[in-house]
Amino acid sequence: MTQDVVTRFAPSPTGLLHLGHAYSALMAWNLAQNCGGRFLLRIEDIDGTRCRPEYDAALKEDLKWLGINWEEPVRRQSEHRPEYSSVAQQLWQCGLLYPCFCSRAEILREIEGAGGAPHGADGPLYPGICRRLSVDEAGARIRRGDQYALRLNLQRAIEVAGSGLVWTDLQRGIQEARPELLGDVVMVRRDIGCSYHLCVVWDDALQGVTHVSRGEDLFEATHLHRLLQAVLNLPTPVYAHHGLLRDASGRRLAKRDRDETLTALREQGVSREEILRRVGLLS
Ligand code: GLU
Repeated sequence: MTQDVVTRFAPSPTGLLHLGHAYSALMAWNLAQNCGGRFLLRIEDIDGTRCRPEYDAALKEDLKWLGINWEEPVRRQSEHRPEYSSVAQQLWQCGLLYPCFCSRAEILREIEGAGGAPHGADGPLYPGICRRLSVDEAGARIRRGDQYALRLNLQRAIEVAGSGLVWTDLQRGIQEARPELLGDVVMVRRDIGCSYHLCVVWDDALQGVTHVSRGEDLFEATHLHRLLQAVLNLPTPVYAHHGLLRDASGRRLAKRDRDETLTALREQGVSREEILRRVGLLS
C-alpha cells in the first residue's frame, strides 16, 4: 500500500503575503496535486508579539484567490501551547535541555572576549556559557527569579540519537544530518515559552506531513529537525527546499515591501495567471 502524500504551507501571519509566499504555497500545493495527495494550511502564530489576526485573514484570502484550498480545521499553533510544553518537558526529562540566562549582549561580549566563535547557519554559535553552570547555580538563579530560555544540549542530543542520521531532499538527494551547523539552539524562548524548531517538528509529525516543501533558507534548519525527530522518536518526512525569489536588485522579497504584496497586486488588477508567470510557474 502506498502512503498518501501530505504537504503543507505554514506561514506566520506577521505581514501580508508577497510573491515569494505565493511561490512557496504553490510549490507545496502542486506537489500534493501531482501526487493525488492532501494539502494542509498551518498558521504558525506562536510569536504573539509579531503575529496579527488581520494578516491571518488576509493570507487565507490570498491563497483562495490563487486557487489553493486546504483541509479544515486549520491548525493554529497558538491554540496548542500545552502540547509544545509537554514536548519540551520530554526533552528536559531526557537531560537534553539546559536553562540559559544570557542576554544577546552577554553572548556577544563572550564571543568578542574569546576572539570569535564558530559560525553556524544563523551567525556565530552560542558559546555554551550556561551549559557550564552547575545544577545548583542554575537552580539558584531560577529561584532568584532570573528569566531564562531552554537550549538544546546538542552534543548530548547527538549522543542519544546516535550517528548516521540522514534525510532526503527531493532536489539535492540524501543528506547526512549536520545539526552542529546550528549549535545549542533555543528550544523554549523565554518570551513565548516555545520556539519555531520545536513546534514545526512536532506539528509536521502530528499532522502526518510526508513532504515538507519550503524555502531553501530553512535548509540548514532541517539538519536540526532531523535530530529532533530522532530524539523524540518522530517520523522523518521527505524535504523539498525550493529557491527563493529575489527582486531586480537581487534582494530577497520581504513582507515589508508593501507594493509587492499579493493583496496590492490583486488590487492593481494583476491576474492569477500573471502571478504564476511572475513566480516562474507558467511560461
Ligand atoms: N512559519 C515559517 C515561515 O513563515 C515556515 C516554516 C516552515 O515551512 O517550516 O517562515
